[in-house]
Amino acid sequence: MATKEYKQLGCLDVQPSGGCAFQVRTETEAELLQLVASHAKQCHKLESIPQEMVDQVKAAIKTVTVTV
Ligand SMILES: [Zn+2]
Repeated sequence: MATKEYKQLGCLDVQPSGGCAFQVRTETEAELLQLVASHAKQCHKLESIPQEMVDQVKAAIKTVTVTV
């Protein structure tokens, strides 16, 4: 049995009052940030993510271990 680590983040972790149920799980932080950026653009009309929010997102990223 092996385990694998994933980075996980949900919109609610960054904006608890936002009411958005979007959640991502990726293998790398870079990949996660990319997906978050495209979600923010499509669903929250954010052309680019302000540095402040990037820091918030990074702080909210959880590492989850999944058995594969
Ligand atoms: Zn969202």
